[in-house]
Amino acid sequence: MAFVDTHTHLYDEAFASDADLAVLRAGQAGVKSLIFPDIDSSTRERMLSLASAHRDSVHVGLGLHPTSVNEGWRDEIDAVERLLETEKAVAIGETGLDFWWSREYQTQQLESFRIQMEFALGKGLPVIVHSREATEATLKAVGQFRGQGLTGVFHAFSGSIETFREIEKLGGWYVGIGGVLTFRNASIADTVKDIPLERIVLETDSPYLTPVPHRGKRNESAYIPLIASRLAQIKGIDISEVEEVTTRNAERLFGLQNIPDGRTDIGQK
Ligand SMILES: [Zn+2]
Repeated sequence: MAFVDTHTHLYDEAFASDADLAVLRAGQAGVKSLIFPDIDSSTRERMLSLASAHRDSVHVGLGLHPTSVNEGWRDEIDAVERLLETEKAVAIGETGLDFWWSREYQTQQLESFRIQMEFALGKGLPVIVHSREATEATLKAVGQFRGQGLTGVFHAFSGSIETFREIEKLGGWYVGIGGVLTFRNASIADTVKDIPLERIVLETDSPYLTPVPHRGKRNESAYIPLIASRLAQIKGIDISEVEEVTTRNAERLFGLQNIPDGRTDIGQK
């Protein structure tokens, strides 16, 4: 048994000098599987090459991040669609809605999100959902696919228990819990008491949202046990139970048990 970091951007510029080492440090910390969510074409090559160098432990999502939806969004979506034909992805995303970032492309964000959920259904993949200041719109957008078998994760979940109940109604969805759980007075620490472990996956969102005691510094996947430990403390259970259940959740959601060896490299014929 081992941990899964279901949301980590170790291919980010923040790891320009030590991305490979960060993957290895995660493994040493017991974080055996990592999922890299996609952002856009500007960072994708780096993501795929890092994943390819660590194919035993790293899996990728393919998609267009809502903060990267701008005038060129359709070309970006087309690129994702083409890549899905050749590249082994375990999820679509991250996609979703970010009205905190900007409402300028609100309509396009919604359309991009909807198209990517169609991709997910077509490919039988889960969706990695990013939602910021857009809870209602996100739930509505996902709700339009209810009953069609679409599943996924609401990453960096910080909503209320009422919002979780709405997510629960979608059927088969998970919430991603990360470093914010370790912050003093974080409301999610209260909410998570009422969220069944069976619906939780762990994530760091590296290089952001660094857990205590490293808060303020760069986050990395090796810190997953700090989040697991806090979750165990809040729920009054052993960390091994958190490990077992959240890993099983992640493996089930992303189909990590059935990943065949060898990923098709980008550009390969
Ligand atoms: Zn992310």
